[in-house]
This record gives sequence, structure tokens and C-alpha cells, in this order.
Amino acid sequence: LGDLRIMADPDDPGIHIAATQGAPPLTVFLCDVRNTDGSEWTGCPRTLLRRALADLKEAGFGLDASFEHEFLLSGVPGARKIPFSFHDLRAAQAFCGDLVSALGRAGTAPEMILPEYGAGQFEVTVKPTQALAAADRAVLVRDITRDVARLHGVSATFAPIVDPTAVGNGVHVHFSLTGPDGGNVTADLSQPSEIGAAAGSFAAGIIRHLPAICAVTAPSVISYLRLTPHRWSAGYTAFGHRNREAAVRVCPTVDLPGRDRAKQIHLEFRAADACASPYLVLAMLVRAGLEGLRAGLPTPPVCPIDPADLSAEEAERLGIRRLPDSLPAALSALTRDEVALSWLPEPMRSAYLGMKRMEMGMVEGLDPAAMCARYAAVY
Ligand code: GLU
Ligand code: MG
Repeated sequence: LGDLRIMADPDDPGIHIAATQGAPPLTVFLCDVRNTDGSEWTGCPRTLLRRALADLKEAGFGLDASFEHEFLLSGVPGARKIPFSFHDLRAAQAFCGDLVSALGRAGTAPEMILPEYGAGQFEVTVKPTQALAAADRAVLVRDITRDVARLHGVSATFAPIVDPTAVGNGVHVHFSLTGPDGGNVTADLSQPSEIGAAAGSFAAGIIRHLPAICAVTAPSVISYLRLTPHRWSAGYTAFGHRNREAAVRVCPTVDLPGRDRAKQIHLEFRAADACASPYLVLAMLVRAGLEGLRAGLPTPPVCPIDPADLSAEEAERLGIRRLPDSLPAALSALTRDEVALSWLPEPMRSAYLGMKRMEMGMVEGLDPAAMCARYAAVY
């Protein structure tokens, strides 16, 4: 019952989607969903992120972030779907060039695009920026990529996996804590993890609540076909240093002349996919990180190897558990974790849980391949 208004910031000049391939230009506004009197509505994911960031600021920190996206491109004439290949980049070059220029004109600061490991898979990255703007960029990257693909007569999907045996499409969320001057304060190069106490507490909060967080960051039924060991996605509640199988890791850096390593040190959350709202993903990470900061949790132990290869005793010692193996398991982890549940205030909470129940009903009875096809048609 009732109604809402979708409202842009009055000073927002909008985002310019350039004319391309005969399609007209378009100006887009990213909006908050508000009550009809203009007040904040707590069912709005962008508002929830804004509030989480305001609380983080009160705790003395800002957050910079960047979403790294993988997607599958199909219908490219001449593509041979060879991992990382020059051939496939060349076959898709007209699309890639147009995409990078459209992303640039839309202000998303694209960094690079390349053929990835999966058959027909590409990866596109954009520069980090303040967290709310980073989530805005993620929304734009997904829609502009699908749009430019359509205009080129090819098809792009960000679905987490397109067939159960395929390589998954991850969304890796890169983030760093920033100080009052906006600089990166994540690093402490004297530590084995190379992150400082605050970033360590932040990461520990995320690891502690990770099973519940998955219900929001890996929110589709097929997300759990991707979120399994040995896929470079994440199968465990592991914290790693440069470890691709860790759910949260300290990213590799470069040690080239003129490049300050401390400024590059940042965290990467790997248990997300593009079925998730980027606003909710960051809101959950910030809320969990804040819990860790407030409790002064120590930096989690670094998992030195692929967590799937740990002995049971070693996993126990490091506090590493398997992530939920299905959406229902993730949703029950969320509903059992009262702290995490409180990060989704009403009406977001019942709306979210209700929509997930409906979504599970819509794909119930489909075999995994048909399920993947259903999601690929949407995402
Ligand atoms: N495709 C992997 C995933 O599903 C990520 C590969 C990589 O490390 O870039 O997350
Ligand atoms: Mg990748």
C-alpha cells in the first residue's frame, strides 16, 4: 500500500550515454527511492548504503571502492572462445572499443577490458572512487555493457554462471579505508597481512558475518553453482594475502619505480556476483566492517593455501568454514544472524526475503542448465 517517488539529486547533471551504432543519445539520472514527502525510504538500497557510509564516517573512515566485472559475450562473428586470446579480443574489438568509449563518456573511468579465462568471457574494470559513486559506476557498467552489446548485434550477460560446468562470472569488490584527507589508510607493510589494525578489524567483521552476507552478495539460486571451491571464486570464509580462493583477500600490488605500495594495498571481496545490487553489497560490507571496527577484532589469520586443501584441524584452527552451498542455506544463515539481519531495516528486510522466496519459486523444478538460461536472460 502507498507510493514512492524516484528522485535525483537536484544538482545532478546526469550521465551522458552517447549516440552510437545509430541509437540516439540518452541522459540518465541515478536516483534514490523516497517517500512521497521526499523523506528517506529504508527500502532504497542506495539510501541504505548512504547511511552505512555516514556511520563509517562517524567512526573516522571513508571508503573507496571499485567493482571488477566479468561477463560472457556471445554471438561475436569469428570468435573462437580461447581464454585470454588476442584472437578473441580482435574479434570483439569493435564492441570493446565502443564500450570503453561509452563507459568513459558516462564518467565510469574505465581501466581495461580483456578476454578472460572462461569461454567467451570478458572482464572490464573501472577506477576506484568514493563508495557510493563506485556502486553507481557498477550499475552503469552492467547496463551500458548490455546496451552496447545489443547495438553491436551481440549479447552480454553478467549472470553468475551460464551452465553448471562453465567458468563463473564474478564481481570482485575492491575497497580501501580512507582517512580524513581521503588518502588510503589500509596498509601496514610491517604486518604479514600488510594491512593495519583498522583494516584488519574491518576484514574480520566481514569474515565473521560472511555466511549471512552471502544471502545479499550472492543472491540468486545459481550463485551457489559458482561459489564453490577451485573456481577462483570463493568457497570458504577464508581471509588471504594474494590468495585467489579466499573470500576476502589483500590484493597483489606492483613494485615498480615510482609506485608506492602502501597506497595500492587494498582488500578484495570475491564472494559477490552481478545478481546482487552493488548498493546492498557495499552496505553489507560496510556494516560488517563497522561491527569489526567497534569490537576491535584482530586481523583474521591469513590462509596460506587454497582453503579446500586445508586439513580439518588446520581449517578449525584458522576458523575457516565452508560458505553456504545454496540460496536457502544463505538465507537461513542471514535470518539466524540477528546482527546481520539488523543491517536490513524494514521494509527492506521483508521485501528482500519475500522476493527471494518468489525467485526460488520461479526456478523451482528447473534443471541447473534451464535455471542458468533463465538467469542469463535477465542478467
Ligand atoms: N571467474 C572467477 C570468479 O568467478 C574469477 C577469476 C579471477 O580471479 O579473475 O570469481
Ligand atoms: Mg577476473
